[in-house]
Amino acid sequence: KLTDISTIRQLFEKHGFSFTKSLGQNFLINPTVCPKIAEMGGAGKNVGAIEIGTGIGVLTRELAKRCEKVAAIEIDTGLKPILDETLEEYDNVEVIFADVMETDLNKLIAEKFPDMDVIVCANLPYYITSPVIMKLLEEKLPIKAITVMVQLEAADRICAAVGSRECGAITASINYYAKPKKLFRVNRGSFMPAPNVDSAVISLERYEQPPYKVDNEPLFFEVIKQAFAQRRKQLANPVSAYFKIPKAVLAEKMTEGGIPATARAEQLTMAELVKLYEIIDELKK
Ligand code: SAM
Repeated sequence: KLTDISTIRQLFEKHGFSFTKSLGQNFLINPTVCPKIAEMGGAGKNVGAIEIGTGIGVLTRELAKRCEKVAAIEIDTGLKPILDETLEEYDNVEVIFADVMETDLNKLIAEKFPDMDVIVCANLPYYITSPVIMKLLEEKLPIKAITVMVQLEAADRICAAVGSRECGAITASINYYAKPKKLFRVNRGSFMPAPNVDSAVISLERYEQPPYKVDNEPLFFEVIKQAFAQRRKQLANPVSAYFKIPKAVLAEKMTEGGIPATARAEQLTMAELVKLYEIIDELKK
């Protein structure tokens, strides 16, 4: 049982493994969590699963039991001898030792899962939660579902309503591509070693057709980033300064476009953020 602390300690001792804190190595020891992630994440027959960060393989095994095939990406080669043992009985799992941020996921999907639905399930390393999620969305991968565990605070931020006080740049960026949903909370005692905060599993349901038309996505995300840089303050200040546009000109265009010149980023809807991007795009031409 891979969620049993003494079994884990034995595995570590046998293979000379020790945790690397900087890699976000908090392994799940609550036996109910991984089956739930796999089930809610859409694991099933004729489904290929991508896992990010195997640890000792506790979620990998739940995916392998239910899916046709699993491709699991893990950065820490120190886990290899452990995974050779814990995944021995599953011939439908391939562990790829690589940095997920450097991995060409479109190529991986084309090679490993040419003829099946693809899902992503992971207990994400916390230090790269947002970059990994944005990579999964920005690369427009043919993925059916994304179900990931993140720190509770990140889950609340990601799942906040755009236009609410809790909304941040990551909320708006994710909402452009997908509808985020908080599935369930996981307390800190479910991990070894226990982190200082609780976590939550979220799902991201990608829009088949993006609801907003944005021609220059990098500029759109830069506008979001700058608008939220000081989200409790009027956005015209940092945005005009960053894009080197006179503040009065930006304020006038915002008013014309139906956005109050005194608006703060956290007050804007997605449609208004897109409008703000269109204004900047036009002024920069
Ligand atoms: N899935 C396991 C579990 O639930 O117990 C481990 C989850 S742990 C929170 C995150 C895992 O991601 C660790 O095994 C860590 O080594 C791995 N990891 C960290 N950074 C990574 C990266 N850039 N690419 C791939 N894996 C990474």
